[in-house]
Amino acid sequence: MLVVQKFGGTSVADLERISSVCDIVSKSVDSGNSVVVVVSAMSGETNKLIGYANELSDNPESFELDMLLSSGERVTASLLSIALNERGVLAESMSGRRAGIVTDATHTRARIESIDPKPLQEALDSGKVVVVAGFQGVNSDGRVTTLGRGGSDLSAVAIAGALRADLCEIYTDVDGIYTTDPRIEPKAKKLDRISYDEMLELASLGAKVLQNRSVELAKKLQINLVTRSSFTDAEGTLITKESNIMEEPLVSGVALDRNQARVSLGGVCDRPGIASDIFGRLAKSSVNIDMIIQTLGVDDKTHLDFTVPINELLDAKPIVESFVNRGEIEEASYDENICKVSIVGVGMKSHTGVAAKAFATMAHENINIMMISTSEIKVSMVIDEKYAELAVRALHGAYELDS
Ligand code: ASP
Ligand code: MG
Repeated sequence: MLVVQKFGGTSVADLERISSVCDIVSKSVDSGNSVVVVVSAMSGETNKLIGYANELSDNPESFELDMLLSSGERVTASLLSIALNERGVLAESMSGRRAGIVTDATHTRARIESIDPKPLQEALDSGKVVVVAGFQGVNSDGRVTTLGRGGSDLSAVAIAGALRADLCEIYTDVDGIYTTDPRIEPKAKKLDRISYDEMLELASLGAKVLQNRSVELAKKLQINLVTRSSFTDAEGTLITKESNIMEEPLVSGVALDRNQARVSLGGVCDRPGIASDIFGRLAKSSVNIDMIIQTLGVDDKTHLDFTVPINELLDAKPIVESFVNRGEIEEASYDENICKVSIVGVGMKSHTGVAAKAFATMAHENINIMMISTSEIKVSMVIDEKYAELAVRALHGAYELDS
């Protein structure tokens, strides 16, 4: 098999951890695999470098930041390669440039445009393990770029795609994807398998283990992803296409997002174009809108509720107030003490009563639902933040995720 193994910052935090990574890599080589390793910077290193730059300047040039930040991953790649060779595992490290990773010119959050797999393939063909510095590429001018925070996951998936690898393993400090946050519900179970779409929903809902862009890319390239821990032998969670998962569970997980605020608009002028005006202005200020509910207009007035990330509420308020001042909205109120709980599962596509059960569960706990939204594989409810954990546990039990 051709395997890409990616190790995150905590897995390469110091020389001792790098030595454990050598164990994992050589085990894979010994079992007959061709291995490409992608590494993050040692944990804390990227933040440290950003801190240095910010001490010297309030506004460092973004291409200088990329020069700086890309160095963290190169340090790890060469150290790991040195350690592997020392053990008799033939290895060679490569920067993003050497690995043929070409990106667009958006410094500090570049997108990968292409990968020329030739240098990687040649090194593999000569029997070497290739250790690639993650999180980086070069633009068409030959300048170093970085892929945005957490971008080493993306490097790994993109390389797996370019080499048509059989598997892309993402090693981190958690042993997989859980049915819900085990800190909230100790009965949470590790999932053996989950589909790309479920993973994307769970991640955007707050279960951040993998960078979302990398899951999207894995879905597009149909790469089987495994997330697992480099600290234990435990098998991780396979993230794969839906048809690889037999016997879909109705609900795979319960997610909680505490990071939302609700904006409620009353007496909104009910004319064509009002939604476009409000949300157009918000979009222009890069405010991310999540749920939107508009009720049927009565007497030329309507009600509009939506949610935004708490830290973007400050940007949203003046925009909303400008509509109030113009008389197009009668009253606006803001509520930060809310949260969003969601159930996610591809099985709900083909079953009825899944949403009804969620509502019944909230009713049973006497929790009022303020907003509801659904997609093909998700039901989300906005509730008072003080019931967040109770709601998660109740839903987890109602769909028998602990059994
Ligand atoms: N070192 C980079 C970061 O901390 C990229 C990564 O670890 O994936 O964001
Ligand atoms: Mg990471």
